[in-house]
Amino acid sequence: MEGFGFSVLKERHINYDANDKSIAEYIAEREPSFRTCIECGCCSATCTTGAFTNFSLRELQILLKRGENEIAREQISKCMLCGKCILVCPRGVNTRNVILLAREAFRKLMKNEV
Ligand code: SF4
Ligand code: SF4
Repeated sequence: MEGFGFSVLKERHINYDANDKSIAEYIAEREPSFRTCIECGCCSATCTTGAFTNFSLRELQILLKRGENEIAREQISKCMLCGKCILVCPRGVNTRNVILLAREAFRKLMKNEV
């Protein structure tokens, strides 16, 4: 990167190969619709929690797929499980179940209550 005269900030480095994808794999095995998300953001636009906080389900799913689990774990407890996001998803992602499975995976795989 230095050869271009600029570099990416160290805190923004994402090491896809080294990151732990176990949470995303746990979800995808049990809720295959997780794989069909196109990151359109309709769920975030209608999200009840997102109207009052910086929570974004779109961002959460991207973080999980990248294996950026610590940031995702901090965010996931904000969801109220109201289910509005399921109604607007154009890909039929069972978003509510994705969140429930992610919480379950964090409890089982990372031993962190969320
Ligand atoms: S609305 Fe559905 S396809 Fe769009 S970002 Fe949300 S989960 Fe993914
Ligand atoms: S279930 Fe969670 S992510 Fe979906 S709209 Fe409700 S608060 Fe937002």
